[in-house]
Amino acid sequence: MKHQKSKILYREAERVLVGGVNSPVRAFKAVGGTPLFIKSAKGSKIQDEDGNVYIDYVCSWGALILGSAHSKVVHALRHRLHQGTSYGAPTGLEVELAEMVIDAMPSIEKVRFVSSGTEATMSALRLARAYTKRQRILKFEGCYHGHVDYLLVKGGSGMVTLGVPDSAGLSDVIAADTLVARYNDLESVKAVFEKYGEEIAAVIVEPIAANMGLIPPMPEFLRGLRELTKEADAVLVFDEVITGFRASYGGCQELYGIVPDLTCLGKIIGGGLPVGAYGGHEDIMNLLAPLGPVYQAGTLSGNPLAMAAGIETLKVLRTKGFYRKLERSSAKLENGLKKAARHAGCAVSLNRAGSMLGLFFTEKEVTDYSSAKSSNTSAHRIFFQSMLDQGIYLPPSAFETMFVSAAHTVSDISTTVEAAESAFQAAQRSVPA
Ligand code: PMP
Repeated sequence: MKHQKSKILYREAERVLVGGVNSPVRAFKAVGGTPLFIKSAKGSKIQDEDGNVYIDYVCSWGALILGSAHSKVVHALRHRLHQGTSYGAPTGLEVELAEMVIDAMPSIEKVRFVSSGTEATMSALRLARAYTKRQRILKFEGCYHGHVDYLLVKGGSGMVTLGVPDSAGLSDVIAADTLVARYNDLESVKAVFEKYGEEIAAVIVEPIAANMGLIPPMPEFLRGLRELTKEADAVLVFDEVITGFRASYGGCQELYGIVPDLTCLGKIIGGGLPVGAYGGHEDIMNLLAPLGPVYQAGTLSGNPLAMAAGIETLKVLRTKGFYRKLERSSAKLENGLKKAARHAGCAVSLNRAGSMLGLFFTEKEVTDYSSAKSSNTSAHRIFFQSMLDQGIYLPPSAFETMFVSAAHTVSDISTTVEAAESAFQAAQRSVPA
């Protein structure tokens, strides 16, 4: 495959954009080579500026559960576009999407739309601090919740990829309010609560961790968090920016039957347009301005295009059998990849939760940040490049999640598994005997 145009664009981009990109993991730093500059996408396929077509497992980092340019979403957007793109005033679309979100999510009585997942987590935690009149926040090593200052301690996503677990530029005072425990390790949470219990405003968690690869929660982990936070009068925040409407229609809270106090959403609810949301019980949500003293605002919040795309997306998700079909193709991909790795004699650990997959080049079972870090990143790099050469676009990091969309066909999955056979062989050859 030729990448001439992407290379030229990247050189130009490097002159005007920091590192040539507007979000760090896009830079291919962990996998080498030039980031692909994308020209268009349709369904499960993405096309770069050189005309190469790939099967896309990034899916805009999980936002595109229907694949790209779904006809219903495109139709709704086309219709809305002619009616104006932003008013800075309320619309019926916001009410409609809010009702759909509240119907779906057991924890949400009231919702506030924002423009990104970062805004959602930042605002939810501000609310939690105001509600509890406490300062400290407990998060988990390797979980990512957007680039909020005090959540950039021991972060996941690009921070693991680039090896900068704590961002520079954080105020020591702010960072000191962030406590960190180990994912899937209730004892580590108990230890923090014993020491700081009365100072903890909130525990924020990705109920399925998807930013250090993909790590499902152990059976008792989330329930334990619910109990500990209840006992300590701390707010439990589920960051369902990735898992909302993906793990199931009602997210992890529906899947596992555990109701958090606040929920953060993003990605899927905007159907591929910029969006975020947070919501919860009225007692907490009504502390927000204009009803209460917690201030949070946004020029483009509840943007009509994002709302329209979100509404159409959720309507499709509600159709009968949607998640069953997605589960079938995701299981097929999981089994195919496992078999391909076995044939190649390549030791991998593959985690899957619904349509999210995490592939780790390690024999260890991956249950937390330290086991995720045992993944052989050189082997991953070779695997990634071989897959790319064969037309499969994977997340360019050993610590990001692969997403399957409803647009992925049986034939897409078979093509991917076939490509993986030789990619695993190449990765295996690179591992020292
Ligand atoms: N929370 C989680 C779990 C995420 O995965 C992300 C982004 N991938 C965010 C929050 C931040 O969302 P955004 O990039 O829209 O700010």
